[in-house]
Amino acid sequence: MSTFLGMPSLPVFGSGNLHAAESFPKAAHRELGNAQLRANLGHATHTIRDKRLQVVSELPDWEQLRDAGSAIKESVMARLPELLEQFEQNFTARGGVIHWARDASEANEIVAGLIRDTGETEVVKVKSMATQEIGLNEYLEEQGIAAFETDLAELIVQLDHDKPSHILVPAIHKNRTEIRDIFLREMPGADPELTDNPAVLAMAARAHLRRKFLTAKVAVSGANFALADSGTLAVVESEGNGRMCLTLPETLITVMGVEKLLPSWQDLEVFMQLLPRSSTGERMNPYTSLWTGVTEGDGPQNVHLVLLDNGRSAALADEMGRSALHCIRCSACMNVCPVYERTGGHAYGSTYPGPIGAILSPLLTGIESEENSSLPYASSLCGACYDACPVKINIPDILVHLRSVDVDSQRGKKKLPSQMDVGMSAASWALSSGKRLGLLERGLPLGRLAAGRDKKIKKLPGIAAGWTQSRDIPAPPAQSFRNWWAKERQGAEQHGGKTQDTTQNEETGA
Ligand code: SF4
Repeated sequence: MSTFLGMPSLPVFGSGNLHAAESFPKAAHRELGNAQLRANLGHATHTIRDKRLQVVSELPDWEQLRDAGSAIKESVMARLPELLEQFEQNFTARGGVIHWARDASEANEIVAGLIRDTGETEVVKVKSMATQEIGLNEYLEEQGIAAFETDLAELIVQLDHDKPSHILVPAIHKNRTEIRDIFLREMPGADPELTDNPAVLAMAARAHLRRKFLTAKVAVSGANFALADSGTLAVVESEGNGRMCLTLPETLITVMGVEKLLPSWQDLEVFMQLLPRSSTGERMNPYTSLWTGVTEGDGPQNVHLVLLDNGRSAALADEMGRSALHCIRCSACMNVCPVYERTGGHAYGSTYPGPIGAILSPLLTGIESEENSSLPYASSLCGACYDACPVKINIPDILVHLRSVDVDSQRGKKKLPSQMDVGMSAASWALSSGKRLGLLERGLPLGRLAAGRDKKIKKLPGIAAGWTQSRDIPAPPAQSFRNWWAKERQGAEQHGGKTQDTTQNEETGA
């Protein structure tokens, strides 16, 4: 049974930094050539992965917590309009102002307008995926407003004019020597004697940021959760820079995707256990900031929230794909993904890399968005992401679903069938009959001729060439299993005996 969600029949897809500029295979091919990137990623992801496994194993009810997280998110998606209204009522009743943004450009315009109203031209920022998604920093720069990232890793990426490559550790692709070089090159007043010791680098960033915190009048943040029953927003972080942004400036503007809602404070308890363990491998995160509107004389006195759709309604309307909106951006799926580990985050093009990016980006932009249609294929379907996900998003199933949506969307567009169409039709014809498959298998030993003396097939024609680009195929055996089996059975019968297995095979017709 399908639920009517009150969605418009024509979905409004997302815009901003969700679209890849080139297809995943092309980008991945380039990134794979970067050995330093692979070494940095391998080291970082394995360290976080081991920590996560250790702290997760301490909780006897981890699986029940995952079930609870998944069930809460499912109920939020089913009641989203009602919960959003409840949240809006409570947030505005406590002095906050809500703004609704359909897409990236609407959200950018709203934020820039609010900053302009304050008369300021500089803002400090807490790490926020939503503002990366809409390309806020770039937009503000065009408007003459400078946005300073205060999360250490975000700061590194911003100073290097680079893009984040990981949800939790945006500079995961850089090592400490590279970071020292960036600080020396880009950070005003950096000590020329700066070493690559992590503590020294952190102190340099701290001194740089302290000046910004003490002068900024406006801050921009994201939010990890929003509680409908009280109109409260929550930011979870490790460094305390977020806390500075959320409390010191006079104006606080938060941009949050509509899916971040939770019904109540009680539900937050589940996620405060799931999130830190899954993301940083910690039992508890060091800083959790919660704010409910305005408190006179304490903290920001102008509090705004931009509620962002940007394709979320379209994703919600996809019955199979909507659970991608359960994501709490912990990054556990990325840290276990063999594809992400080798290609890094930039290959995915969008703000959201890794397994979650491979489903979320095409869901938000629509699978027909040309370059994003290759993302659901950026997976080996090994299932490690599903096992790691704290809210049990079945990423492999959604990947397969999106692949089928992609194939369907191509139908009728081409005049001639592609090599893949021909190959799939041939495979369907052969695999739907044991007899046909047996006949084809008889021809397989001919492949030994193609393999030559070293018994390896090194080049296949057409689209199959992709397979042999980086590996050889061993020569097929001299006879197929069926031939061997038939001969064995014949021999057994001639010797007067039938094995039990042989009889069963005859009965089932296999
Ligand atoms: S899909 Fe699951 S594992 Fe991946 S970032 Fe989202 S919540 Fe974490």
